Amino acid sequence: MSALPAVAFLGLGHMGGPMAANLVRAGYTVTGYDPVPAAQEEATKNGITVAEAAVDAVRGAEVVITMLPNGKLVLDLYDEILPAAEPDTLFVDSSTIDVADARAAAEKAHEAGHRAVDAPVSGGVAGATAGTLAFMVGGSEDDFATAQPLLEAMGRKIVHCGGSGNGQAAKICNNMILGISMIAISEAFVLGEKLGLDNQALFDVASNASGQCWALTSNCPVPGPVPTTPANNDYQPGFAAALMDKDLGLAANAVRSNGVEAELGLRAAELYHRFNTEGGGGLDFSAIITDIRDRSTAKDSK
Ligand code: NAD
Repeated sequence: MSALPAVAFLGLGHMGGPMAANLVRAGYTVTGYDPVPAAQEEATKNGITVAEAAVDAVRGAEVVITMLPNGKLVLDLYDEILPAAEPDTLFVDSSTIDVADARAAAEKAHEAGHRAVDAPVSGGVAGATAGTLAFMVGGSEDDFATAQPLLEAMGRKIVHCGGSGNGQAAKICNNMILGISMIAISEAFVLGEKLGLDNQALFDVASNASGQCWALTSNCPVPGPVPTTPANNDYQPGFAAALMDKDLGLAANAVRSNGVEAELGLRAAELYHRFNTEGGGGLDFSAIITDIRDRSTAKDSK
């Protein structure tokens, strides 16, 4: 008999599907649920037993992992499944949701006699498939220790960030840095272009100087200097602008509700929201440079 805990995995979409498949590969017995038939079929092919309803998947599980689109779905699903779980079940929510929702979800789980961590990820579908996700985890030391081996079966870098909600907090703070820095890099390239500066020359200077950052050296928004970036492939993601819009929206909620003076974070959220709603959401988030360039070109003709 396997000593590994029985796992329920709820939400078998773009991320959850391959994550659950990696747990099966690592030897876990996984029962899953997703209302979408295509997700159910793919999961079955990957060795996951698909239940007829979320409550059925949860019965008998020692660990319940959720990977859902938003916080309301997580909270609603918790209301449905918490009463069906064995006492002391560990709930791991890997969805990207508001810090406040993550803390509310953990509280619901604790009140129902269970354990809980938030464990949002970065690394995208490629990382989920390759089992190389980064997990940022919020919860007690004990609950983190229980979750860690499962997270290691799905990821490479697992960081315990503190109590409930701190995994989500770390994720949105990091992505606020990333969104702001991508806009800064993009504005600098467009300004350089207007000044007659070659993109490669700016890259050679900034990447070896104080402007150096991940948005420049690993996800450079202009084609050429870093051949592997989405800019060289018509901005196919990568990390989609729609997801940056979502994450900056969550960061903006936290900024407002905690009274933080974060003018650049709020402005970055507005710019990515506009880019997403005007049709750029399916492109890599570095494609924001095309919007900045287009708006700058439009100013030339005024
Ligand atoms: P997705 O829409 O592909 O998958 C979500 C799945 O949840 C869907 O298949 C949906 O049918 C299912 N679902 C909805 N309600 C459910 C319920 N009550 N019970 C069970 N399943 C239910 O989304 P995704 O891309 O897999 O993203 C999931 C989460 O991961 C989101 O919070 C997202 O922000 C986060 N995330 C995504 C990426 C990415 O690159 N896609 C990267 C990092 C984080």
